[in-house]
Amino acid sequence: MSEAKNYKEALQHSIFKTIAKASANLRLDSYVIGGYVRDHILQRGTTKDIDIVAVGSGIELAKEVSMLLPNTPKVQVFKTYGTAMLKADDIEVEFVGARKESYSEDSRNPVVENGTLKDDQNRRDFTINALALNLATEHFGNLLDPFEGLEDLKSKIIRTPLDPDITYSDDPLRMMRAIRFATQLGFKIEEESLQAITRNKERIKIITKERIVDELNKILLSKKPSIGFKLLEKTGLLSYILPELIALKGIDEIEGQRHKDNFYHTLEVVDNISENTDDLWLRWAALLHDIGKAPTKKFSKKVGWTFHGHEFVGSKMVFKLFKRLKMPLNDKMKFVQKMVLMSSRPIVIASEVTDSAVRRLVFDAGDYIDELMTLCEADITTKNPKKFKKYHNNFKIVRQKMVEVEERDHVRNFQPPVTGEEIMTTFNIKPSREIGIIKEAIKEAILEGEIPNEYEAAYQFMLQKGKELGLIVTS
Ligand code: ATP
Repeated sequence: MSEAKNYKEALQHSIFKTIAKASANLRLDSYVIGGYVRDHILQRGTTKDIDIVAVGSGIELAKEVSMLLPNTPKVQVFKTYGTAMLKADDIEVEFVGARKESYSEDSRNPVVENGTLKDDQNRRDFTINALALNLATEHFGNLLDPFEGLEDLKSKIIRTPLDPDITYSDDPLRMMRAIRFATQLGFKIEEESLQAITRNKERIKIITKERIVDELNKILLSKKPSIGFKLLEKTGLLSYILPELIALKGIDEIEGQRHKDNFYHTLEVVDNISENTDDLWLRWAALLHDIGKAPTKKFSKKVGWTFHGHEFVGSKMVFKLFKRLKMPLNDKMKFVQKMVLMSSRPIVIASEVTDSAVRRLVFDAGDYIDELMTLCEADITTKNPKKFKKYHNNFKIVRQKMVEVEERDHVRNFQPPVTGEEIMTTFNIKPSREIGIIKEAIKEAILEGEIPNEYEAAYQFMLQKGKELGLIVTS
């Protein structure tokens, strides 16, 4: 047998020595396994999550470790899973007893029985996640790699330890995890595995929406999210998860007129925006900004392909999609809706930048004008270098104008210079329709640039509007 590779340097944190000592006290073997080992070898920076497998009781080991630590941190026990967790300084350590798993058709929760380290490595999802480091004193840091995970790390391959059909069918979440790791790490999913995912795609139905969304979020937060979405599409998973995106696929042609493939365009937009923002929700907005195009697509002989009102339809679809995926129906969703609804606005004004159009844009976008501009710039995917330059330049002009207008008119967080209260006292009227009419007229006059956003001008305008409505000044 060849000598085991050693990764002692991965185990410099004092917690590992403590776990080794606790294991010796309990006379059991323990190993660091999974993401921590993988990320160390990939030099992905230090991971704060450590997974420990004990050949014996993981819960007992966690308790023993806690007792050996200076401040005896609390051990959280998850009885159903037979796991325990403790926090030491800034790291989280999860303990589990080595186990063998067997699955039934309708659940991703297996029946478990005690097992060896090898049994435990068999139940891991990918060879690169089955790497383990020995914590026993005489073998401290030795690598246990029964499936050549180290080779796969080097050749950047995602592969399952056992038959991929069984691995994915047993726990279909692994299909999402495979695609997520491929995206995060820039790895290739082995062909056999990819085919097995395609064959088992329907099994994704047994996975809770929350788990699916967790993985989607991780894909979206990767450097190049399109890798993941293309794999989701290729394997057929995307039809189950985000059919709205699948509906954007394809190019129609009538009488020689074609529109672009809005699915691949969308993925380009997501990659573009990911270079400029780490905001998950802005990335979601990029992913969904064109979903209204499928239901609104029309062809007319005069103008060719149109998608009238797709922004409005799309923003309504965002709500349904979030609800279906059990995503939060809160401010984040409203933000995504707003971005989708307004996604064409800067483009429309970019060709002819007027003060009033910019004022309206800033007013309507409110606090999110910067995010909206980031989205619209990412939306430029033309392959024509001249147009590319021109469009970016147009947005530069819009941004400049925004600064000018904002300095002068302060419409970003617009507060009407004349309050409803004042309108009521001036004309001695009770709350009524007229107040709304006057307030709206003042706002419109400011946005149109008819009057400046100042008290005196707005007051005079109010007097004039009141007069037109037949009101009499009493104060
Ligand atoms: P990340 O922290 O980026 O999600 P990770 O690999 O640490 O990466 P965890 O979800 O914390 O991911 O899982 C820890 C380890 O548990 C994995 O490395 C893998 O060995 C195993 N694991 C997690 N989920 C599964 C699963 N669904 N099927 C099989 N093994 C799994």
